[in-house]
Amino acid sequence: MNITKSISLFQEAQKLLPGGVDSPVRAFRAVGGQPLFIECGKGPYLFDVDGNRYIDYVLSWGPLITGHAHPNVVKAIQDAAVKGTSYGAPSPLEVDLAKRVMEFMPNIEMIRFVNSGTEATMSALRLARAYTKRDKIIKFDGCYHGHADMLLVQAGSGVITLGLPDSPGVPKDTVKDTLVADFNNLDSVEALFRKYPEQIAAIIVEPVAGNMGVVPPLPGFLEGLRRITEREGAILIFDEVMTGFRVHKGGAQALYQVKPDLTTLGKVIGGGLPVGAYGGKKEIMQMVAPAGPMYQAGTLSGNPLAMSAGIAALDLIQNQGVWDEMEARSRQLDAGIESAAKKAGVPITQTRVGTMRTLFFSETKPIDWNTVKLADKVRFGKFFQKMLENGVYLAPSQFEAGFISIMHDGPVIDATIAAVEQAFKTW
Ligand SMILES: *Cc1c(COP(=O)(O)O)cnc(C)c1O
Repeated sequence: MNITKSISLFQEAQKLLPGGVDSPVRAFRAVGGQPLFIECGKGPYLFDVDGNRYIDYVLSWGPLITGHAHPNVVKAIQDAAVKGTSYGAPSPLEVDLAKRVMEFMPNIEMIRFVNSGTEATMSALRLARAYTKRDKIIKFDGCYHGHADMLLVQAGSGVITLGLPDSPGVPKDTVKDTLVADFNNLDSVEALFRKYPEQIAAIIVEPVAGNMGVVPPLPGFLEGLRRITEREGAILIFDEVMTGFRVHKGGAQALYQVKPDLTTLGKVIGGGLPVGAYGGKKEIMQMVAPAGPMYQAGTLSGNPLAMSAGIAALDLIQNQGVWDEMEARSRQLDAGIESAAKKAGVPITQTRVGTMRTLFFSETKPIDWNTVKLADKVRFGKFFQKMLENGVYLAPSQFEAGFISIMHDGPVIDATIAAVEQAFKTW
């Protein structure tokens, strides 16, 4: 594989951008080697600057459920661009996307668009604190909710991969109200409520954890969080920035039939442009300025290009048939990987919910960060490099989710399975 141009670009980039990248997980630090510089994407494929083609299972870390450069999404962005790229005033597109999101997630009664998942979770927590007049929040070990100061505590893959349990620069006082419980462990949550009665404003959770690799909720876990928060007068926030329109057409809240008070969204709802959103019960959302006193604002929020891309993307995943097809392709991939591993005698555990998946090099079923971290990172690194050589682009860490799109058809999946078999053959 010739990556000469990527190598020289990376050398230059490292002089200009910290670590040569604009987001740490892109740097391939967990798997060795160096990042590839991308020339373009088309459907299920990424093309690097040296002309190599890869089947893409990263899909911009989740957003691209319609694949790269889907003609409908591209046209929506082009049509919007000629009408102006930002107004700083309301446009009909915001009303349109709001209605569509609510069709997918009827539990959301009002919504506020922002520009990233980080902004969404940060704002939702401010809102929960404003509403309950309490300061403390609970998050789970291994869950990531963006890089806001108060949330950079035991925060999943990106941070773990770098071996930073916390980040320097986060003041102690900022995280003193952030309590950490174990994913899939209701006792650890109960213990915190016992210790801090009437002080906990909210629980924020990835209903299917995706930022320590995919870890599904055990039966009863989400229901338990709902029961506990209701009893304690705390707000339940589902961070569906990744799971929203990934695990099910209606997100994890539809799949598991548990209704959170607030939901945060991002990734898929922007169709590949920068968007986030938070929404939920009207009574709570009415506290957001200017309807209420909880201040939150954004120069580019509700941006017409981003709204248009989001509308086009949601249009493309509107029909159940699309979801049935993605489920069939996912099963095909599950089975292919399972049988390749068996044949080669490689111990693996696959987790998958809808279009999110992780292949753990571990025999232990992952249920929380403690079980996740048993996976063999060195083996993953080798596997990652071989898959890259075989034309398949995986997330460059054992502790990440992989994604498919509506463009990952049968032959693309077959080609992926062949690459896996090839990688395991030389094991
Ligand atoms: C990606 C992600 C975020 C952060 O979103 P950004 O747009 O990267 O700020 C927050 N929560 C979850 C669950 C995510 O997967």
